[in-house]
Amino acid sequence: MSAPVTLARSDRTGLITAKLRLIRIHILGSAAGGGLPQWNCACANCVAARTGKIAPQTQSSIAISGDSEDVQRWFLINASPDLPRQIESMPRLQPRHDSLRNSSVAGVFLTNADIDHALGLLLLREQEKPLVVYATDETRKALAWIDSVLARFCGIEWRKISADFQLLGGSIGFRAIELPRSVAFQFRDDTSGATALFAPGVGELTDKLRDAVNASDVVVFDGTFWSDGELSLVRPSARGAREMNHLPISDGSFEVLRQSPARRKIYTHINNTNPILMPGSPERAQVERAGIEIARDGLEIVL
Ligand SMILES: [Zn+2]
Ligand SMILES: [Zn+2]
Repeated sequence: MSAPVTLARSDRTGLITAKLRLIRIHILGSAAGGGLPQWNCACANCVAARTGKIAPQTQSSIAISGDSEDVQRWFLINASPDLPRQIESMPRLQPRHDSLRNSSVAGVFLTNADIDHALGLLLLREQEKPLVVYATDETRKALAWIDSVLARFCGIEWRKISADFQLLGGSIGFRAIELPRSVAFQFRDDTSGATALFAPGVGELTDKLRDAVNASDVVVFDGTFWSDGELSLVRPSARGAREMNHLPISDGSFEVLRQSPARRKIYTHINNTNPILMPGSPERAQVERAGIEIARDGLEIVL
């Protein structure tokens, strides 16, 4: 797909400057709830992260922008409790120097009401204007407690989401794909037609989601668990992955992602128990052989 080129207004010299407008994606956090390492966990991955053998990961959040380089409004997909330090790790999300208080965060999309996806909203309370949050009515209801806490600070301006594309400003649009107990978001650049799918919490592979996986240039997908019983290895009373609304990789999403013609296929929201995190593991090798990437904090994609 060719890069979108939009023409800017004449500059002072009277020349027409061509400006690139692209979809920029930045994985702020690639871990599931708890992060890597998780404070109370001594599984092989958490120990490896504590001893510097594998890179630590913060909790699931993604930044996306459809603006040209000089505008830079960013939308977040989920707001993790690690958000303040994720912003400090990404210069483009930090305040501009032309005023003392500002932010390039223009809004937050919530895929569900999980603590690891919503707690970061509370940490944006210093903002003056209300926070713009896109979510289903169910998510909004489940987050009534955050709503009432933030009402004493900046407040939340809730925005409806729908199954049809709606414009976000510029040439970028988005739509929601409803799933059992969560949603996925698909973003599209109307100029180039480039699309990116974000589905960090998937309990079931519905037909609509499968279609979107096959029709997107970039697919960022739920890689929480390798197998259904994975968590019970560290906590015997733990529920299965499917019961926790996460389709396991091995006998759930792997085949669909492997076969998708998407240019980039990336597992994110990876739980610290997942064997794909360990270099040299057969599970990681299987994923990589299939042309699927494993997200890490700081991963950038431009399309
Ligand atoms: Zn989560
Ligand atoms: Zn662990």
